[in-house]
Amino acid sequence: MFQVEVWGGAGEHGRSCYYVQFEQRAVLLDCGVKKGHEEMYPLLDAAKARKLSCVFLSHAHEDHSMAIPLLYRDGYTGVVWTTRSTAQQLDNYFASWQRYVQDAGYELPYTKEHMEQVRYRFVEDMAAPGQWFTVESGLEACWGPSGHLAGSIWLLIKHEDKTLFYSGDYSPDSKLLVADLPSPEYVHDLQFAIMDAAYADDETGQEQLIKEFVATCGRALERGGHVWLPVPRFGRGHELIDILAEAYPHTQIVCDERLEQGFQALFGEELWLKAESVAPYKEMWSSRVQVLSQEQIRQKSIRSDKTIILTADPMLQSRDAANLLEAFQSNPENAIILTGHVYPGTCAARLLAEEKPGVQVTRHRYKIHQGLSEVARMLDQLKPKTTLLVHSPKEKTDRLQAKLVAQGYKNILSCTPGDRIVMDDDPCLFTNLR
Ligand SMILES: [Zn+2]
Ligand SMILES: [Zn+2]
Repeated sequence: MFQVEVWGGAGEHGRSCYYVQFEQRAVLLDCGVKKGHEEMYPLLDAAKARKLSCVFLSHAHEDHSMAIPLLYRDGYTGVVWTTRSTAQQLDNYFASWQRYVQDAGYELPYTKEHMEQVRYRFVEDMAAPGQWFTVESGLEACWGPSGHLAGSIWLLIKHEDKTLFYSGDYSPDSKLLVADLPSPEYVHDLQFAIMDAAYADDETGQEQLIKEFVATCGRALERGGHVWLPVPRFGRGHELIDILAEAYPHTQIVCDERLEQGFQALFGEELWLKAESVAPYKEMWSSRVQVLSQEQIRQKSIRSDKTIILTADPMLQSRDAANLLEAFQSNPENAIILTGHVYPGTCAARLLAEEKPGVQVTRHRYKIHQGLSEVARMLDQLKPKTTLLVHSPKEKTDRLQAKLVAQGYKNILSCTPGDRIVMDDDPCLFTNLR
């Protein structure tokens, strides 16, 4: 018998946190936060947290990582298994999470000491991707790249004859990042999978989304406007630059220094990159992308030569973003294109909601998670006995669950935080524990 408790992340976007108990041993998968909501932190159980064998962290995004110090506040003294690349990105996420909490008028529920107590160990020091390593006697793990972000991984956890797969945040659609899955002999008897289904029952493919995104940029440029893409420092921004450089070979592309740092970090560790993409991408970056200070970018935005601008502040929360927005609003033909999840209460959310924001504001998705077809493909490859769909609001997850069941998939679960799944011969779901 083993069981999985949802401490956060299923039936919602944010605070991913899954407690997995095998007989006498338990591990925690991720421990993130949920921006823009009252319930920002996972439903931690301090007594259980103290007894964890270890914690695994799939990647650096705040919805998977920023509640980890709470475990140490609650008395956990063990390690956090992750990748070196993820650990290197965390300082930035901690700094911006602290800023966000302060600006929103909340208090951080952990201290600097708790943050310093976190001890990271790196999976790549233990085994190559796709190979088992021993975490402690009786507990084994295996990892591989998940294509979502540099350093992001999927995990297999094994205790005796029980194996569990966690996809982390997963994308098979990245132009730059490698994504793979465990080899079939490792998962021939997979009991349980926790699967990224952030796009729920949406079936639109990446190529179609890219076509629509490129067309929106093209229309703004033809009207004589600039295009501004606020993106994260690490992640999709670097792929979008490449797409636009190819689509608009004669248009200037500028980015801020933080995106340049993101580029340096990404190409500093080629383990995560598709080998064939590295040389052409570096060539594109050096020949097409101009790195400017925030003030130089603002100056450019009030001149008439059409420019594609990328800045590393996806929710437009900083002073620099406010300054650039003011300049941008001087020409109603300018376009802001939002390409990721928009958190409630942020400047990006306010702009989207405004009837007359003074500029064109549109949303386009660039896939860095899974929807219906990717989840179905993963189910076909891994054939888990039971699957928990995560990372999307409950109603959307229910719709995805219904469609998968209609396609013949068995034991597909849609849960909410506080639910517990007990795996005996058949899975048993207990809801609303807390
Ligand atoms: Zn993520
Ligand atoms: Zn996530």
